[in-house]
Amino acid sequence: RCVLLNSLPHPCRILLFVNPQSGKGQALTLYNSHIQRMLNEAGVIHKLIITERQNHARELVKDVDLSQWDALVIMSGDGLLHEVINGLLERPDWEEAVRTPLGILPGGSGNALAASVHYYSGVSQVTGEELLVSCGFLLCRGLVSHMDLVSLHLSSGQRLFSFLSLAWGFVADVDVESEKYRHAGAARFTVGTLVRLASLRIYKGKLAYLPNGAAASLPGPPDALLPPLDQPPPSDWVLVPEEDFVLMLAMHQSHLAEDLLAAPDARLADGFIHLFYVTAGISRSALLRLFLAMEKGAHLDTNCQHLVHAKVRALRLEPGAGKGIITVDGEVVEYGPIQVEVHAGLGRVISG
Ligand code: ADP
Ligand code: MG
Repeated sequence: RCVLLNSLPHPCRILLFVNPQSGKGQALTLYNSHIQRMLNEAGVIHKLIITERQNHARELVKDVDLSQWDALVIMSGDGLLHEVINGLLERPDWEEAVRTPLGILPGGSGNALAASVHYYSGVSQVTGEELLVSCGFLLCRGLVSHMDLVSLHLSSGQRLFSFLSLAWGFVADVDVESEKYRHAGAARFTVGTLVRLASLRIYKGKLAYLPNGAAASLPGPPDALLPPLDQPPPSDWVLVPEEDFVLMLAMHQSHLAEDLLAAPDARLADGFIHLFYVTAGISRSALLRLFLAMEKGAHLDTNCQHLVHAKVRALRLEPGAGKGIITVDGEVVEYGPIQVEVHAGLGRVISG
């Protein structure tokens, strides 16, 4: 698959969504200090939309006249892009709408897609305002690539789309519990990890996946690989024998956060879900070592017996009874059985 598609026209017109509440609440200040002039000088005509509440961007994207814009760009964390992508796929003309180039400027506390796009461009890892400026340049250059999107089915029958991650157990708990350290910016995940390590627990559930190579990838929805959630997985799926976990993390891009390189060999449109799980029995210190190694993407080299990695096309998670947290792109979704399938290169993103 040829990943690089085309360039944005010049001059180009973008609709820029800024979430003033994201991260430390500085996205608008960062726009004024770093982005506005950069876009003007590069001839990027843009209309600024400051979001007023959760799902505001999602609602606007459902109705916007897409013929007026060459790209939709968000300046926030990953949560706002999650809204925009789901808004596009909820449109009756989703097939056309999902081809709208998307751009990301890191203004939140969880800027994983921005970090991933920056990583694929081949330059060394940066964070904070340096990452913002780098993503600003990529936006001005306007090269558009395919990006994998993942479709998710919840037990209520709801279906949604994800561009980044699906997490359960340790990582999902840290994601949600660390909201209260949001004033710390991207460091909220480090703080959250240390707090959660102190009260490490086991999560019971069943995990199954369709390994790479078991089926050809199919373009676009519908989800041809997924059986109904109430029926057992087909015979070509792998049933994970363990049912006691510390975490399950399915990555669609490389970075889980600005400084967490969870899936080093992931690429924008590789057609894989990079599945990681850690089984129960791992010590606190070994788990801490995994997260420290993840800053450089070296966690797979630690030879930890409890960490399993597989490239998959679809997976199903059935958490045991009780309450818990599942996050999709860092946002909380309904807790219960969940099934996902990757759609290779369905979306488009401005990248390096
Ligand atoms: P962060 O990385 O800091 O968490 P996100 O982009 O993930 O930033 O945004 C966090 C949440 O805020 C998301 O659920 C998003 O939908 C929501 N949101 C968007 N705009 C607003 C707003 N104006 N006020 C409050 N919440 C908002
Ligand atoms: Mg977020």
